[in-house]
Amino acid sequence: MVTVEERYEHLEKTIRGYNISADFPQIRTAYEYAREHHGTQMRRDGTPFITHPIQVAQIVAEMRLDSESIMAALLHDCIEDTEVSYEDIAKQFSPTIADIVDGVTKLTRVKYNSMEEEQMENLRKMLFAMSKDIRVILIKIADRLHNMRTMEYQTPAKQKKKSLETMEIYAPIAHRLGMQRMKWELEDLSLKYLDPVAFNDIEARLETEKVAHGQFLSNVQEQIQKRLAGLGIENGTVYGRVKHPYSIYRKMYTQEKTIEEVYDLFAFRVIVHTVADCYNVLGVVHDLYRPILGRFKDYIATPKPNMYQSLHTTVVGEEGIMFEVQIRTYDMHAIAEYGVAAHWKYKQNITANGGEGMYEWIRRLLENQEDADAEEFIHSLKIDMFSDEVFVFTPRGDVVNLPAGSTPIDFAYSIHSAVGNTMTGAKVNGRMVGFDCQLHNGDIVEISTSKSAHGPSRDWVKIAKSSEARSKIRQWFKRERREENIAQGRTSFESELKRTGLAIHQVTDPSVLPIILKRMSFQSLDDMYAAIGYGGYTALKAVNRIRDELRQISRAEAVAKAAKEAAEKAEREARENRYVPQKMKSEKGIIVEGLSNCLVKFSKCCSPVPGDEIVGFITRGYGVSVHRRDCPNANPERCPAEQGRWIKVSWSDECYESYNTSLEVICKDRPNLLVDISTVLSTCKAPVAGLNIHTTADGFALFHMVISVSNAAQLDQIMRKMYQISSVMKVNRPAG
Ligand code: MN
Repeated sequence: MVTVEERYEHLEKTIRGYNISADFPQIRTAYEYAREHHGTQMRRDGTPFITHPIQVAQIVAEMRLDSESIMAALLHDCIEDTEVSYEDIAKQFSPTIADIVDGVTKLTRVKYNSMEEEQMENLRKMLFAMSKDIRVILIKIADRLHNMRTMEYQTPAKQKKKSLETMEIYAPIAHRLGMQRMKWELEDLSLKYLDPVAFNDIEARLETEKVAHGQFLSNVQEQIQKRLAGLGIENGTVYGRVKHPYSIYRKMYTQEKTIEEVYDLFAFRVIVHTVADCYNVLGVVHDLYRPILGRFKDYIATPKPNMYQSLHTTVVGEEGIMFEVQIRTYDMHAIAEYGVAAHWKYKQNITANGGEGMYEWIRRLLENQEDADAEEFIHSLKIDMFSDEVFVFTPRGDVVNLPAGSTPIDFAYSIHSAVGNTMTGAKVNGRMVGFDCQLHNGDIVEISTSKSAHGPSRDWVKIAKSSEARSKIRQWFKRERREENIAQGRTSFESELKRTGLAIHQVTDPSVLPIILKRMSFQSLDDMYAAIGYGGYTALKAVNRIRDELRQISRAEAVAKAAKEAAEKAEREARENRYVPQKMKSEKGIIVEGLSNCLVKFSKCCSPVPGDEIVGFITRGYGVSVHRRDCPNANPERCPAEQGRWIKVSWSDECYESYNTSLEVICKDRPNLLVDISTVLSTCKAPVAGLNIHTTADGFALFHMVISVSNAAQLDQIMRKMYQISSVMKVNRPAG
C-alpha cells in the first residue's frame, strides 16, 4: 500500500526530473493545504481524497508543466469540495493560481446532457472559451484522466456517462491540443465502459498473442537498431508496440474487419536527433522491408494541424506481417506526446514571465494551420478569441450560443419567441436575476414563463444584445399592441415634431396629408404612429421625411402660384397689346415665363429637344414638366379641370449640350440593317443611350432607340438620313 506521503514524494521526484528550479517549498505548502482542507474526505475506492489531487498533479508533472500548474492541480478540487474560497487561494498562493483553480472548478460544474454532434462541438468550444488560461484545460484533462483511471469504483450509470463525455469531448480536445498519449488513454478507458464486450475481446486477443507479439516486436526492433548502428546514427531510440485497443476497435468497425484482418496492428517508432537522420532511417526501413505503396506520409514536410510531425510508412516484414513505422526527432516526439503542453514548456524557457502575450505560441500554432480541417481547429482553439460569443446552458443541458453581453432576454428569445413573450422571471445558476443580467460562459439559465404574462416591455429592445431577440420583441409589439403602439408612436412623433418647430395641423391639413402618406407608403396616420410605436420606424425619421415633403409641396405651390400670376399678367398684357417677352434665367435650357429658377423636367412621353415647339405643365410637387406642343398629353382638352396648369415655356439660348430623345424606325428586315442605322447615328454624332429591336413574324423590324442630340435640326438631319437607308419604311418621334 502506497502512502499519501510516498505519492507526494514521487511527485516531487518527477518534477525534479525536468525542473530542478521548481518552487518545491510552495508546492509542498499547496499539497499540505489541500490535504488539510480535504480532511477526512474519501474517494470511492477507499483512499483519502488527497490522493486524487496528488495523482492529477502527477499527470500534470508528466506533462512537464510549471510550478503554478502543479500547485493549481494540487488545489484543483478545493473550491468545489471544501470551504476554501477563491480569495483564500489568491491570498495564500497567488491570484494566478486562484484563477486557474477557479477555471478548473467552472469546467467541473459544466453539466453535459445532450450528446448530439452539434451540441458536442459547442461544448468543446465552450470549454476553450471558458479556459482563459490554457493550463486550466490541461489540468482539467489530467483530472479527467485520473477519474477515468479510477472509474471502476463508480456506478455503471456514471461509468457510461463519464465515458461518453470523455470520448466525445475530452479525447477530441486532447487530440486538438496534440496530446496523443492522453488521447489514447482517454479513448481506451472510455471504450472499456462504452463497449465492454468488444474491449475485453480485443484485450483478451492481445493477451493470448502477447508472447508472439513480443517476439515479433523485439525481432524488428533489433533489425532496425543494427542498421542504425551501421549508419553511425547514435542515441537513436527504437521501440515497437501493439496499437492501442481503441484504434484497433475503430479500424475493426469502420473497415468491418476482424482483429486478424486489421493489418497494421503493430507500430514502431524510431526517434533520432536530426531531421536528416529521419530520412536516412526511412531509407533503411524501406531497404529492410517492402514498403506498401501509398502508405508513406511525410508529416515533417507537411505537419498536421495540431503541429504533429513525423514520417509514417507501412511495410511488410519477413513473415508477411504489416506494420507501421513512425520516424521523428526527439523534439517532434515531445510535441507528439504532450502537444500543447510541450509548447507551453518551451515557451516558458524562451521568455520567463514574458508579458508579451501568453498566447503568442497559440497564435503561431494557429497561423500554421493550412488545410480544411484547420478552420475548425482554429475555431476550437481560440481561447481569448471567443470574446464575441458566450455559451450558456438550458436547464436540460443544451448549449446555447449567444453574442457576448447577452441577457436572459436574449436567451429566452433564442429558445422560442413564445418563451420570450411570456417570460416572467429568470434564474442564472439557480439564483433569481434581473432581465438585464449579463450571462457568462457556462451559466445555466432558466426562464420562468406564465400564460398571464404581460409580454415584453419596451425597454427590452434596448437591453437585448441579439438582433434575433430585438426583432422578435418588435414583432410582438407590432402584432399585440396596436392601440398602445399608436398612442406611444403619436407621443414620440408629436414631441419630435415640436422640436422641429412644426405644428401638427400642418401635417394633418387635408390638402397635404394624403400626399405625405402616399409618399411614405402608409395607409393612415395611425399606421405611421403604430410603426413608430413598435420601433419599425423612428419618430425622427418620420418627422424629417414629412418636413422635406412639406417643403417640396410648398415650393411647388409657390411655383404654381407664381406661374398662375405670370400667366394672368401675360394674358392681361397681351390683351393690352403691349406684350414683351421677358428674358429670364433658364433651368435646363428652358425659360418658364414669369419664373426663374423653377424645377424643370422633360416629359418622357415625347422627349422634346431644342427647336421643338413646347409647352409646360405645372405638376404637383415637381415643378414644370415640358411637353412637345404636338404631344397628345399636351392637349389641354384632355383634362379640362387642369387647364389652368398649362403655362408658356420656351428654349433659352443657353441650351444644354445634349438632350435624350426617342426615335422609332420601322423597316423591312434584312441583313446589316443595324450596321447601317448605327453608321447614320455615328456620322451624325448622336450617342445611343438605349436600343430595342423587335422583329415580327412577317419580316419587319421595329427599332426603338434613345439617342442624345443637341437640337431639333440635328434630329431632323438624322431622321432624313435614316429614311435614305434602304428598306427603312418609316421614322417617327414617338409621343403620348
Ligand atoms: Mn478532480
